[in-house]
Amino acid sequence: MGLFDGTALERPVTCERCSQSIGLCKCPRDKKGKVLLPSQQSPRVRREQRSGKFVTVLAGLEKGPDAKTPSLDDMLRLAKAKFATGGTINKSGEVELQGDHRDKVVAWLVSLGYAAKPAGG
Ligand SMILES: [Zn+2]
Repeated sequence: MGLFDGTALERPVTCERCSQSIGLCKCPRDKKGKVLLPSQQSPRVRREQRSGKFVTVLAGLEKGPDAKTPSLDDMLRLAKAKFATGGTINKSGEVELQGDHRDKVVAWLVSLGYAAKPAGG
């Protein structure tokens, strides 16, 4: 019998998603410490007009460290290449793409496993 038998410390402390030890794991987690997979994220994609031009805003993407849940920088880079447009990450931590790509972006995110939905008009 060990000191920590039957306690949480007896359990293997590896991440269920990346299999790293918890100390090395950088998976995105919610406030309860649960791993956020793309399928557990529900980004909302909306259109905004800025000085007469449309931008497409991807809100609610969690930051992530790897290919299964790419970082916002990765998502921006992938989206810019995918939709052949410019973009940025705004002050609210949302990916912004130039132009109106809302429906295509929703379809793209869904194809990556996100529970994405369009928002706004
Ligand atoms: Zn992990």
